[in-house]
This record gives sequence, structure tokens and C-alpha cells, in this order.
Amino acid sequence: MRIVAALGGNALLKSGQKGTAEEQYANIETACRQLVRIAAEHELVITHGNGPQVGRINLQNEAAREETPTLPLDICGAMSQGQIGYMLQQGLSKELSRQGLELDPVTVVTRILVCKDDPTLVSPGKPIGSYFSRKEAEARARDLGEKWIEDKTRGGWRKVVASPRPVWIVEERAIKTLLENRFLVIALGGGGIPVLGSEQGGYQGVEAVVDKDLAGGILADAVGATIFLILTDVPAVYLDYGKPTQRPLGTVSLDEMVSYSREGHFAAGSMGPKVEAAVKFARERGHKTIITSLELALEAIEGRAGTCLAASGCGEA
Ligand code: ADP
Ligand code: MG
Repeated sequence: MRIVAALGGNALLKSGQKGTAEEQYANIETACRQLVRIAAEHELVITHGNGPQVGRINLQNEAAREETPTLPLDICGAMSQGQIGYMLQQGLSKELSRQGLELDPVTVVTRILVCKDDPTLVSPGKPIGSYFSRKEAEARARDLGEKWIEDKTRGGWRKVVASPRPVWIVEERAIKTLLENRFLVIALGGGGIPVLGSEQGGYQGVEAVVDKDLAGGILADAVGATIFLILTDVPAVYLDYGKPTQRPLGTVSLDEMVSYSREGHFAAGSMGPKVEAAVKFARERGHKTIITSLELALEAIEGRAGTCLAASGCGEA
């Protein structure tokens, strides 16, 4: 089967970790062991989150402000794709040779087209980066035209950017060509680098972030995947998550998932977009989405773990 696997940002850099190269390589080694097991049996395309990494690139940017010009968010996104892609290639090469598989890992710096009429471009609402004081936030808003909001729970101010919906992957043809030539492709990291079509020709990068699960669904569709595999840090999707009545979902029908979603079981910004991407992939393509943890990935593909959603049911592999 052809599978697109979306790795959560936490799989690569866990919350509470400092973010040293050693820590990240250790996490990546675990992830790559699982990914190569999947690649041994299926045609695999890998995508991944970049929240923790791009946050740190931003911080380095801020800290070095007086020494070297800060770079816009789209370039920071590209840096994170290169960084994570390289580390995954290192981890995958090692594991591929250990498991005796002849596949070449390669990373595609990937742009994702967004729509100029997307409402979030006019009223951005996605907080990114570190927390700042009111004074700094006000100065940045005034001098740079950025939008900042106060986060009262954490007692600081954060920059907010647009989070437009993904429309089309600019590098789609390149990704498919590589896949068809037996490359193990890593693409669309962090949901892709958001760009708008430019009237002068080509594309214009935008100061925005695209949700990696919604973008991953577009990738799964583009390469004709039969399974969109969302690998996160929980074994399944739960109803009443975090409450004493919490219970995991196994195989769910499209209608059931839509009504659970309407009942508010899936938090915005975390499980919400995963479920939304799963529903869209099932409804428009009739294909299967599995949401589970990295550790349970293989069992979930075989139907023995995780939450599975498909328009025609999850029974047949
Ligand atoms: P990733 O980096 O994999 O995208 P996220 O933090 O964005 O990870 O999403 C996974 C998180 O979603 C889980 O760790 C959990 O805390 C949260 N979550 C919210 N609602 C649910 C739910 N209904 N079932 C399971 N997890 C949920
Ligand atoms: Mg997420």
C-alpha cells in the first residue's frame, strides 16, 4: 500500500527537552526504526511537524537581532525543513542499511499554495514563538506592523500569524517522480512553506503557518495514498479526552466522527485538525486515515490499534 505518514513535532523534540542535537538524534533514531519497518512493507512518504524546531530558529533570530538581520517566517520554515529533513535522512540511512533495504532517503523543500482570499490572512490568530513583555510587543507591533496578543495564562505577549488552509503542493510533481523512482521521500515539513501565487510570475512567501495535518491530507491525496497515517503522542483518538469518562475510539464511521466533532470532543489546534483532515480524506477520496502513536504504527496498519476512519469502513487492509 501507499502510505503517507505524518510525524508529530513531539516525535522529534519532546516538550521539556532542551533541544540539543544529541537529544534530537536519539528521538529520530526511535522514529526511524518504526518508519523503516513500515517502508519495508509499504510505499512510504514521510511528512512531519516543525513547531519546536522553528520556535528555536525564531529564538536564535531574535537573540542575534543586533548582529545579523532577522529573517521572515517563510525562510525560517525552509530552514526547519532542511534541518529536520537532514536529521531524518541520517537516521533513515542508518536504519535502512541495518534492515537491509535499498531505498534512498531524500528531502524536498516544499511550498504549499494558500489562497489570497483566506480569511486568516486578514485576521491572523495563530500564536507562534516566545513570550515577550507588553512593551516589546507594542514596539514590534508599531515598528514592524506585526500583530501581538496577550496570553494571560502564561503572563506574556506572543506574535500571531495567519494559519491559512492548504490548497496545492507546488512540488507535487517532484515528490511523485521521486516516489515512483524508489526514493524514500520526506516532504512538506511543518505543513509546507506557505506561498501565494504572484502576479509577476512565481510565488511569494507569506508570514503564516499551515497546519501539518491538514497539509498532510493534501499530500496523501496528491500521491494517491490508500492510508494517511497520523503519528502523534496518544495511542488513539478519545471521547471525553482528559475526563474520567475518557474512552478510545477504534473504527469509526464518517457520520459518527462528524457528530463527535460537532459535540466538541477534539481540541482546536491539536486533535481537531487531525480529525478534520481524516474526515476530508475519507469523504473526498474514500480513503483511510489512522490516528495513533509512533510505537503502535505497525499494529494500527494491521487494524489492531489506533483510531481508524474510512468512508467504506476500515475492515479491509
Ligand atoms: P502533534 O505534534 O502530533 O501534532 P498535537 O499536540 O498537536 O501533536 O496533538 C496531539 C494531542 O492532542 C495529544 O497529546 C492530546 O493532548 C491532544 N488531544 C486533544 N483532544 C484529544 C482527543 N479527543 N483525543 C486524543 N488526544 C487529544
Ligand atoms: Mg499538532
